[in-house]
Amino acid sequence: MDVTKRYGEGPDAVLALDKVSAGIEPGTFTAVMGPSGSGKSTFLHCAAGLDRPTEGEVRLGTQDLSALRERRLTELRRTRIGFVFQAFNLLPSLTAEQNITLPLRLAGRQPDASWFDHIVSAVDLGPRLSRFPAQLSGGQQQRVAIARALVTRPEVVFADEPTGALDPETARDILGLLRQAVTDLHQTVVMVTHDPVAAAHTDQVLFLSGGRIVDGMTGPSAERVADVMSGLRRAA
Ligand code: ADP
Repeated sequence: MDVTKRYGEGPDAVLALDKVSAGIEPGTFTAVMGPSGSGKSTFLHCAAGLDRPTEGEVRLGTQDLSALRERRLTELRRTRIGFVFQAFNLLPSLTAEQNITLPLRLAGRQPDASWFDHIVSAVDLGPRLSRFPAQLSGGQQQRVAIARALVTRPEVVFADEPTGALDPETARDILGLLRQAVTDLHQTVVMVTHDPVAAAHTDQVLFLSGGRIVDGMTGPSAERVADVMSGLRRAA
């Protein structure tokens, strides 16, 4: 992607992304980090086709998302992109299994039985598939949300602070599961996080500050990520 995003116009306009250029390799796990207000959510929303850039383009494979009309974009988000949110965002009146298969039903597609079994066994929910979200712990709900994000075999899964609402031990399990989606299931995951420990599970980190990519790191460790982050906070 190669994107500028401005909110509002005239002297009050906010330049949330300033010519941000980034390429995500398929089959990798990427963290997007930066101080509060640095443009992380805007980056994720533009990359995922939830919001449109003011200038520039976002490509998924060969498709330029900014060229699509709203209906086609919605369709593409449903079938080629997966989402995992901090607040799980499951439908309370559907069972875990029905939540997982919802993106397929919305797209009018049949579940691929072997892929479904594959992801359901990866998220390890076992007999809890027939339970409703309110009957599951936070970590179990996030497992359902991850299975739902993977069920269409999307080209990219975007995760927005996926462990923000979880205790550290459960967070580690969920990050392990996202790692497994990349390593074993060959999926592509892009995750916004402010947690250096979470970022250490990824292959590469993009650091944003003031709407620009100011640094990058491959093979991150929590200590090195924390160092860069404190430098960015001091500079901000
Ligand atoms: P982060 O996720 O890193 O905290 P954001 O992407 O949310 O950063 O915000 C980047 C900048 O854009 C901030 O200055 C923020 O105030 C501004 N911003 C974000 N969303 C909007 C909006 N809908 N309208 C106006 N300004 C916005």
